[in-house]
Amino acid sequence: MRFLSRRNLLIGSAAAGAIRAASSELSPGKLRVIVTGGHPGDPEYGCGGTIARYSELGHEVTLLYLNRGEKGCPGKGAKACGSTRVSEAKKACEILRARARFADQMDGEAVVDHAHYDAFQRLLEAEKPEVVFTQWPIDNHRDHRATSTLVYDAWLRMKKSFALYYYEVSDGDDTLLFHPTDYVNITQTEARKRTACYAHASQSPDRFYALQSQVTRFRGIESGHKQAEAFIRHPQSARNLLP
Ligand SMILES: [Zn+2]
Repeated sequence: MRFLSRRNLLIGSAAAGAIRAASSELSPGKLRVIVTGGHPGDPEYGCGGTIARYSELGHEVTLLYLNRGEKGCPGKGAKACGSTRVSEAKKACEILRARARFADQMDGEAVVDHAHYDAFQRLLEAEKPEVVFTQWPIDNHRDHRATSTLVYDAWLRMKKSFALYYYEVSDGDDTLLFHPTDYVNITQTEARKRTACYAHASQSPDRFYALQSQVTRFRGIESGHKQAEAFIRHPQSARNLLP
């Protein structure tokens, strides 16, 4: 369990920058953080409080969604649903002061093959991240599992150049067998996270936020805070890059 001061974060990020490349255009200490997720809403529900903390510290956060959630609006066609959910995602990103990107796969039809491994790696390489968050691979939704495995493959092929963290979402419904190694205190940013999650108005936020909020309260009890988000850090990736 680690809670970092801004100073430690900057030291950690400077070290990561030195490992990654000497030619970064960003000022020293500024991190590029990518939070991947299967659908619009996954990064926000799993990491919204942490994303808000990164952006408040001046770091650059991108939410990279595998698809547009095209099949997630009962009674609505894929095209209309996708466009509703893209605008919800953009609104959520605005609230969290992050940027939205889409990997252009189709909801419920995630493809993990040679070409898609390569395409996803190219996407991540273009972003030059120091930190990447992804979904835990033991999850009931195939798009979540696909996201996890695409990120993991890119991490290996990019020579473990970014810190890799896994997050949990809708425990029991989705994530299972998740045993955290690291916690982020989100007591101060939980309200902003909630607003971002509620921006996904088509996705029953009353139901899903209630569940996720039980999870963050429990992670808070575990880590000694009112509210916390929990992560599993890959033990071979850089330390000290959480806010
Ligand atoms: Zn999802």
